[in-house]
Amino acid sequence: MLNTLFDDGIRDVRLLLERYFSGLPEMRVKSDIRPGEVLHKLPEKAPEKGEPLEAILRDVEEIIIPGLIHWQHPGFMALFPSNTSLPSFLGEMVAAGLGVNCMMWDTSPSAAELEQRVLQWIGTAMHLPAHWQGSIQDTASTATLTAVVAAREKALGYNGMENGLNGQPTLVMYTSTEAHFSVEKAARIAGIGSKNLRRIPVGKDRTLDTDALANAIAEDKAKGYLPFMVVATCGTTGTLAFDPVDSIAFICKKHGLWLHVDAAYAGNTFILDEYRHLSDDIKEADSYVFNPHKWLFTHFDCSLFYVANEKDLLRVFSADSDYLKASREGIRNYKDWGLPLGRRFRALKLWFVLRHFGIEGISARLREHIRLARILESKLRKNPNWEFVTEPAMNVLVVRWNDGRSSQQELDRMNQQLIESINRDGRFYLSGTRVDGKFVLRIVPAQTDVEESHIDTLHALMESISLVFPGDQ
Ligand SMILES: *Cc1c(COP(=O)(O)O)cnc(C)c1O
Repeated sequence: MLNTLFDDGIRDVRLLLERYFSGLPEMRVKSDIRPGEVLHKLPEKAPEKGEPLEAILRDVEEIIIPGLIHWQHPGFMALFPSNTSLPSFLGEMVAAGLGVNCMMWDTSPSAAELEQRVLQWIGTAMHLPAHWQGSIQDTASTATLTAVVAAREKALGYNGMENGLNGQPTLVMYTSTEAHFSVEKAARIAGIGSKNLRRIPVGKDRTLDTDALANAIAEDKAKGYLPFMVVATCGTTGTLAFDPVDSIAFICKKHGLWLHVDAAYAGNTFILDEYRHLSDDIKEADSYVFNPHKWLFTHFDCSLFYVANEKDLLRVFSADSDYLKASREGIRNYKDWGLPLGRRFRALKLWFVLRHFGIEGISARLREHIRLARILESKLRKNPNWEFVTEPAMNVLVVRWNDGRSSQQELDRMNQQLIESINRDGRFYLSGTRVDGKFVLRIVPAQTDVEESHIDTLHALMESISLVFPGDQ
């Protein structure tokens, strides 16, 4: 592989990324690309003969980059972030160059052992229970599906995986109305059926109502169904609400239900002492997932999936002979910890990130993002027309323009217009959502390089655009 392509390629890619990152602050975060526009510029057939790297890189700059949403732009404050960092990128470069497949210990011993060590580092830094064991999955969706299948089989006495679900009792699982759609997807795929996923109502604070949960379980049991699992959320996608996991765990223990905790975004903050109480709450869970690829400076994909008892996974996902060999030799075959056989070397980039920043460096960045959200919050609170629809949590602000006079419908229209105008300006990208039927803005400052000046600019932009609306002053 070592030839001029290597020398020139590394140099040219580096130059391309340098141009990209130095130009990024001036770019519109959200391009106005129309469906089919990029497709149209790409030839319909693959080239018969190889092409020079310059031609490929030119098309990256002229066709691909202009058609992207710039997730690493400091003005990207929509959805949840998917942030990256230089050490993450460098770790990926090494992983891509080495090109190993981390299916099992035998196929890549040091990859398996690095994964084990890095997951242990994170577990310790985040005060997760010491006996939990983790693996790296591609996404929280995959981890949740894996947990549902493991929980299902545990409840069925490992009968479903042998005989299929025909003739088994009706399995029922529970989550709140605010849970991520990945829970319902998992219920569909795992043969539970979305009808047998009970969406438990939330209280005023948008967290799962534990009385309603206990009642639902009792009702299902009375009907002869088999309740087997609860999925609780730490940091819901809409408003970053935290289900009362310790009370839910109590109910689960009482009825013998598996508790899976989805902390995809907010779980990253468990590295901070000030959120220690949140990680204390989850210690009775059976499985747990969070995504460093959202807010831990490790680019997509990197989702950490912990289980309290790894045998619960291995029993379902491993071939018996592999399992016996692994336990005899004290090794990890991560193919036995979830769905895929072949696995990317994701531990490497996470290791680069942890070593480059240290726990302190990572903590400082997260605290800075939370501080920036507080600054924006206090600026907005000075104008009574900004209504915080839910109390701000961490660095997620859920806010709308409300003059106190207009109808709900008019307010929805104004806020939709507001978000369109902000996104049209190009310096920021925000997304909206509905909370109790109201259209609201969600603002999430979490890009690796976001600074206070961006917050000032966004605030000024929000105020100037809102001037066209009626106000109460
Ligand atoms: C983002 C998110 C998910 C989905 O994460 P993927 O890794 O993309 O599957 C699930 N749950 C919550 C609470 C999320 O915020």
